[in-house]
Amino acid sequence: MMDQANILIVEDELLIAKNTARKLKKLGYNVLKIVSSGKAAIEFVSHKQPDLILMDIAIKGEIDGIETANVIKSQLDLPDIPIIFLTAYANDETLDRAAATGCYGYLIKPFRDKELQAAIKMALSKHQEQSEIQDALQSTIQQYSTEYDDIYKDNLTSLPNQLFLRDLFDYLSSFLIPGKNVVNGTENTNKDSLEQSKSEIIAVFNISLDRFKKITSFLNKDRQSALVKEIAQRLTNCVESFEAYGSTLYLNPDNFLILLTLDRRSTAKRYGQHILENLSKSFIIGDQEIYLSPSIGIAFCPFDSTNIEELLQQSEKAVEYAKTQGGNRCQTFTFAFNIKSYKASDDVRLESELHHALERKELELYYQPKIELKTNAVVGAEVLLRWHNPRLGRVTPDKFIPLAEENGLIKPIGEWVLDSACRQMQAWHNEGLNQLKVGVNLSGVQFKQSDLFHKITQILFNSSLEAQFLEVELTESILVENIQGNVQKLNLLKKLGIKIALDDFGTGYASLGYLQQFPFDILKIDSCFVRNIDSNEVSAVIVENIIGMAHQLGLKVVAEGVETEAELNFLKHVQCDMVQGYLFSRPLEAKEFKKLAMSSQTSSITPNK
Ligand code: C2E
Ligand code: CA
Ligand code: CA
Repeated sequence: MMDQANILIVEDELLIAKNTARKLKKLGYNVLKIVSSGKAAIEFVSHKQPDLILMDIAIKGEIDGIETANVIKSQLDLPDIPIIFLTAYANDETLDRAAATGCYGYLIKPFRDKELQAAIKMALSKHQEQSEIQDALQSTIQQYSTEYDDIYKDNLTSLPNQLFLRDLFDYLSSFLIPGKNVVNGTENTNKDSLEQSKSEIIAVFNISLDRFKKITSFLNKDRQSALVKEIAQRLTNCVESFEAYGSTLYLNPDNFLILLTLDRRSTAKRYGQHILENLSKSFIIGDQEIYLSPSIGIAFCPFDSTNIEELLQQSEKAVEYAKTQGGNRCQTFTFAFNIKSYKASDDVRLESELHHALERKELELYYQPKIELKTNAVVGAEVLLRWHNPRLGRVTPDKFIPLAEENGLIKPIGEWVLDSACRQMQAWHNEGLNQLKVGVNLSGVQFKQSDLFHKITQILFNSSLEAQFLEVELTESILVENIQGNVQKLNLLKKLGIKIALDDFGTGYASLGYLQQFPFDILKIDSCFVRNIDSNEVSAVIVENIIGMAHQLGLKVVAEGVETEAELNFLKHVQCDMVQGYLFSRPLEAKEFKKLAMSSQTSSITPNK
């Protein structure tokens, strides 16, 4: 059967191509087509997959045969197609590049019929062997999960569970070339690798879904299960599309592992990115659309460790790091992550300094203008907290607010922010800027405070600011934990006359449907949707729809993080009400903000160049 293999020839010298085709036919192979450029080869392969490609390296068009092979290999929805390179000049650099594609062999032109036949046979049988190993692995996994009374299997996803980790690792280790590829911890790019099996490392992918509990808290049990199954299925599909042996393991609803034997670390990074992209696409569960935020940590055997427990821990550290960088990213382990004590002592120092920040008057409020698009006028400001510490320098809110939330300092700090912002706004009102509104961010801990209502009433009274000029900004994640209770709380605030803004819309579940139950006045579209909105069609459609729906619900819409004129023009076009962002102004010190707001009363504000 193998002799009738379908072969694609990529060769730009027609005479050689025809000659090769004739030889192949004589040897009993079927030549599917002859193409002369990389582009044509890529196009052909996307419609019909040959069993093997004979690829000349120097070919017509912008990309050579090696680049073409790389493009074909990177198309993960295609099965693995063995490639044999043909070349007239076998210099070291070319051979190294060819080897790096993970090809199945090469022939130096001119070659004899016998050499051609041998190379094809070897490539096809090696390819066959690889698929058989993968099949064997799958059936071993299946066998484990049925034979051992399901103790090795997670019932919901049917994936093997953590108990199978060690066995899987031992099994995959048997494919590693002993002692190969670790020369003082650097990759050995020996061109002999062309002849060798490609399994040189094991990559442990630790896939963690950030804020999973919060994101799924509004789903009932059945839907939560359906989501977990769907996640498992996507991961399984990814593994099947990879050119590697391995499997997905279930640890928790929000934590999966994938172990793969691979040729090199860069392949792991490429695959990690592919997994990330797959999990970042929305999940449709019933009538709900859910977006997850995955973080992936990767550790490598034998580079990082040859012990699976250690590799697991290292992959966890890489995940932790990915999360501190905002999540939704893929991070490989480095030994720098082991210097944990450094980070810990850093945090302790930050915390002890933060305890004194208020009394030492190190906190300051900055004001970022909100511009109304219809009038080009400054209609309000969002208050953003800044901490200037003589020893630590400027500390950004992203660093110290989570810390303050953890240790409870957010309560006095938050109260100070509200009080100062209201007093400042009233002072500006007295100076003639009497329509300006002030937006204050409330964190989860603050919102949960039982005396929040009482505190805000007092602050408004003390500052004399009318409640209608105060907007509180809250994120979805704060509100979904206890929907009923939170709706009541918001209604109380609304009774006072305070406006409620939903902050960072688009970073959570982005479903206006269930948010309808909350009494919002304003919707703030997160900057991630605004970024490149003029050229990103998906974001554009989403934003246009969000704005339409928000208007139907009687909400005003603010777009955050507007940085370019093109973004601004698009937002005007889709009737966005207000914008905030560097294009008009960064957050400003009080004095500067006042100047800008004053001048906007007489002439409309213009974007920065
Ligand atoms: P946020 O509420 O989403 O605030 C908007 C953030 O985007 C601010 O970062 C702002 O400086 C930044 N930004 C504004 N325009 C642009 C732009 O055009 N491009 C880009 N790239 N960024 C822009 P900042 O000041 O670092 O604040 C970060 C977060 O810290 C805020 O996010 C908010 O969640 C929190 N935060 C700040 N001040 C307070 C506060 O007083 N209390 C509480 N609870 N949280 C605060
Ligand atoms: Ca905000
Ligand atoms: Ca925001």
